[in-house]
Amino acid sequence: MAILEIRKYPDEILKKKAEKIETLDGNLQKLIDDMIETMYKANGIGLAAPQIGISKRLIIVDTSPRQENQGLIVLINPEIIQSEGEILSEEGCLSLPGFLTRLKRKERVLVRGTDRKGKEIEIEAEGLLARALQHEIDHLEGTLLIDRISPLKRELFRRKYLKSKK
Ligand SMILES: [Zn+2]
Repeated sequence: MAILEIRKYPDEILKKKAEKIETLDGNLQKLIDDMIETMYKANGIGLAAPQIGISKRLIIVDTSPRQENQGLIVLINPEIIQSEGEILSEEGCLSLPGFLTRLKRKERVLVRGTDRKGKEIEIEAEGLLARALQHEIDHLEGTLLIDRISPLKRELFRRKYLKSKK
């Protein structure tokens, strides 16, 4: 296993729509293991493949440090097939270090995808898990947290963030 480099904003790959995964081969299994190790090392609760430079529809989520009865979820080609309610909560992203913002998300979601063995699974989620799944699936569409805030807030963020990178 290996720790991978997490791509940070404004890396172009974070803006790309990721490609559907058609084959579950050994390379993909290795990628999944590396992503898991990378996420835990970074103390993240979720990671999407584009964040480590691979533009494919693969996400991992583990909210167990903060949410009971949850464990590691690996989802290939995930899709939100139902959602309801709205909830405002604070959110951050490993690709936007140091940035936190309050953001409205769906309160509950039903997500469908396949697990790492190719079995179709459906996950009914609420709370932090629902939020994490929406956040990671956004990454597959090339959407970041900052694309979901107001243009004014985004501009303020950009100036501060890019300045801090110099
Ligand atoms: Zn993120």
